[in-house]
Amino acid sequence: MLDKVGNALKTGIRKISNAITIDKKLVDEIIKDLQRSLIEADVNVELVFELSQKIRKLALDEEIKGIEKKEQLVKLIHDQIEILLGEGKELKLNKKDKILLLGLYGSGKTTTISKLAFYYSKRGKKVAVLGLDTQRPAAMDQLEQMATKAKVKSFIDKEEKDPLKIYQNYKKELDKYDLVFVDTAGRDGLNKELSKEIKNIVKKIKPSHKILIMPADIGQTAKTQAEEFQKAVGIDGVIITRMDGTSKAGGALTACAETKAPIYFIGVGEQIHELESFNPSSFVSRILGMGDLNALLEKVQSATDEKQQERIQNRLKEGKFTLMDVYNQLEQMNKLGSMDKILRMVPGIGGAIDKIPKSELEKQERKMQHYKHAISSMTTEEIETPEIFDKETSRIKRVANGSGTTTSEIRELLKQYKMLKEMMGMQQGMSEGNIDPKMIQKMAKKFGGKMRR
Ligand code: GDP
Ligand code: MG
Repeated sequence: MLDKVGNALKTGIRKISNAITIDKKLVDEIIKDLQRSLIEADVNVELVFELSQKIRKLALDEEIKGIEKKEQLVKLIHDQIEILLGEGKELKLNKKDKILLLGLYGSGKTTTISKLAFYYSKRGKKVAVLGLDTQRPAAMDQLEQMATKAKVKSFIDKEEKDPLKIYQNYKKELDKYDLVFVDTAGRDGLNKELSKEIKNIVKKIKPSHKILIMPADIGQTAKTQAEEFQKAVGIDGVIITRMDGTSKAGGALTACAETKAPIYFIGVGEQIHELESFNPSSFVSRILGMGDLNALLEKVQSATDEKQQERIQNRLKEGKFTLMDVYNQLEQMNKLGSMDKILRMVPGIGGAIDKIPKSELEKQERKMQHYKHAISSMTTEEIETPEIFDKETSRIKRVANGSGTTTSEIRELLKQYKMLKEMMGMQQGMSEGNIDPKMIQKMAKKFGGKMRR
C-alpha cells in the first residue's frame, strides 16, 4: 500500500549509509525521491515540504560529522515519517464496553464490526454485535451474515425503524456481553439528520468508545471528515479501511495525524481477518525493511575500543597498517557476536541473510578463527610487512602448516588485509583522524557480499 514510500525511504537510507560524504547533491537527490513518492501517496504537500526542510537542514549542518550525521539523518527520516503517519493507539477496553462505529455510507462500518468482533472473540472476550442501521435496506442481513462468519451473536431487527427502540429491546441481553459493537447508519455526508441520529444513540447507549470509520481512498479528505465528526458528535479515534486497494493511503493516514485522531486499526481486505492493529513505529521499520540499524550502531560503538582505533588511525597515517591490526579487527568483530547476528543488523543485508545457509555462516566464523591462528604463527616481519608473502610465497606454506590452516586461507587473509588497508585509507581521508566504527560495518558487509557470491 505504501510500497512506493517504503522504496524511496529504503533507497534514500541506503544512499546515506553508503555515501562517503553527505553533500548537497546527494541530499537533493534523496529529498527529491522522497518528495515524489510521498506526494504520490497523497501526503499533504506542505507536510512533505516541512519534512524536506528538516532533512536538508540536518544534512547540511557542518557541525555534525561523519557517522554521527548519518546516524542522525537516518533517525530523523525514520522519526519524521513515523510522526507523519500519526499515532497508533491500542483500543483500551474495560470490563464492559459498548463501542459505536460511525461513518458515512460505504465507509466499511459493518465489515469492520465483524472484523473487530472476530478479533476480540479470538482473544477471549464475550462479544456481540448490535445492528442499528435502519437506513440501508439489507443492512441487518449483512450484519447478521458477517456475525455468523465471525461466530459471534448478533442482535438485529429487520422491521423496526427506530434505532433507539431496537437498543431498548435488547438492552438486558446486551448487558451480558463484555464487548458490544454497535453498527450505525451512514449518510452521503455528515448532515443534520445523521448528526442528530448519532447524538441520540450516544445519549441513550452511553458508549465507552466512538470510533470513526473512514476508507483510505478518501485520501486527505479524511482530515475534514474527522474534524467534522469530532465537532458534531466527538470521536475517540479512527479506523481506516480499504488500505489494501489504494495509492492514497498516505493521505488518509497523515490527515489523521494532523487532526491528532489516533488510529486503532487498519482494514487491509474484505475478509474477516483482514484487520491489523496500527503501530507507526513498526510500520516504518517494516516499510523500510532496514533491520535494526540503531541496535547495530550501538553495538559497534560499544565494542569499538577507541584507543585501539586511534592507534590504527595513527599507524595508517604513518603508513604502517599491519596484519596485527587485522587481527585486532577480527577480535573486535568477535565481540559483536556471531556473524549472522552482525549481518542481520546491517541495512540492506538483513533480509538477504536468511538466504545464506547456516552452515555457510559457521564456515565463515571458522575461517575467521583460522585467520587468527595463521597470524599467530607468523613472524614479526611477516606481520609488519605482509607484502613479503608476495615475494616469498614459500612463507605461505610454512604459515599454513604451522597453524593448521590451508594456503588458500592464507592467500585469502592477505587479500582481506589489502582490502582493509585500502578501505581504511579511504576512511582516513574522509574523517581525518575521526574514529569511525562504520569500518566494522563495512567489513561485515564485504564479508557478507563475499558469502553471497
Ligand atoms: P458500511 O456502509 O460503512 O457499513 O460499509 P460496508 O462494511 O458495507 O463496506 C462497504 C464496502 O467496502 C464493502 O464492499 C466491503 O467489502 C468493503 N470493505 C470494507 N473494508 C474493506 C477493506 O479493508 N478492504 C477492502 N478491500 N474492502 C473493504
Ligand atoms: Mg453498513
